[in-house]
Amino acid sequence: MFVALAGESLLDAAARAGIRLPHQCKTGSCGACRARVLQGQVQGIAGALPTALTAGDIAQGQRLLCCSAAAGDLQLECAEIPHIPGIEVRKLPVRVVAMERLAPDVMRVQLQPPAGQRLHYAAGQYVDVLLPGNRRRSYSLATPAREGVDLLELHIRHLSGGFFTDQVFGKLKVRDVLRIEGPFGTFGMHTATDASAILLASGTGFAPVKALVEQLLATTSRRRITLYWGGRARQDLYLHDLCKEWEQALKGRLTYVPVLSDSPEADGWAGRMGWVHQAVLQDHPDLSQHEVYACGAPAMVNAARRDFTALAGMQSTLFFADAFVAQPG
Ligand SMILES: Cc1cc2nc3c(=O)[nH]c(=O)nc-3n(C[C@H](O)[C@H](O)[C@H](O)COP(=O)(O)OP(=O)(O)OC[C@H]3O[C@@H](n4cnc5c(N)ncnc54)[C@H](O)[C@@H]3O)c2cc1C
Repeated sequence: MFVALAGESLLDAAARAGIRLPHQCKTGSCGACRARVLQGQVQGIAGALPTALTAGDIAQGQRLLCCSAAAGDLQLECAEIPHIPGIEVRKLPVRVVAMERLAPDVMRVQLQPPAGQRLHYAAGQYVDVLLPGNRRRSYSLATPAREGVDLLELHIRHLSGGFFTDQVFGKLKVRDVLRIEGPFGTFGMHTATDASAILLASGTGFAPVKALVEQLLATTSRRRITLYWGGRARQDLYLHDLCKEWEQALKGRLTYVPVLSDSPEADGWAGRMGWVHQAVLQDHPDLSQHEVYACGAPAMVNAARRDFTALAGMQSTLFFADAFVAQPG
């Protein structure tokens, strides 16, 4: 049980009471914080758009806790995240120890926390970089936490004119110090099932997918994974060779399907073309027995959710998303 303040999102109210509920983007785009209202009424929060819910979800009483406030006493049905010992949200200064251009507009940034202050997190989580003027920008952690390794790896795409990414590609250098807060989010693979999983990434949406696959490599799980990675041009698939290596290492367990959306001529590309989520539909006309983990551009994540549920019988509760929505400020 928790008490919500007037106008406060139910997600924030639960967090204030120490109750950990699934969430990711906190802007209505990813659908991770869906809950069913069993009793009572919720009201929308001004400016919050629960785009992750279909009309069918709403008719079944589902609401997003990041976009809803209480309009009186409520009874909700939703998953609660078990507390993982050691995973605590913290603010940390981190030193930039390496910067590598993986593509003309993608930088791998490695961050070193202070000695003895290693950040514990689950694969699929993200950190916020804290910036002047109360601004913050979220970045997915691109490796799983590993024993004896403190470094945090981010893949940052340059958005020209962007407040933070202009700095990353203009001024930021090795030895600079950033402040981060995290880990946040609950986007992670549900390992207690053998259901086939589709990992779907666009652009730097590959970062959390990389963490999930590297975690999988460290287990004996027999789950079958198909990884779809979409970009406009070949250079957007900035770790294509690594995916090929995974395919070899996880023979029979992981299939890699790269998909480009722009004209192939310039790249000499002989692979799949089109929108990456449509490639999934071409290969899997029936998604009723699959879990999908979709990461990256909100437009891709929303199109995938809409088309998979409407055209391929996907259960919306088995669609997990990490949508890279823009942040205010
Ligand atoms: C949970 C989460 C995880 C994320 N993980 C990553 C990650 O691993 N790698 C990564 O590169 N980014 C990631 N992002 C996006 C990132 O947080 C920033 O939004 C992005 O880097 C832009 O920051 P900026 O300050 O440079 O641009 P801003 O100054 O915020 O924006 C500049 C312009 O670009 C638009 N814009 C902002 N973000 C996007 C976007 N994603 N797509 C299209 N237009 C956009 C804005 O509307 C604005 O017009 C993540 C976002 C979320 C919510």
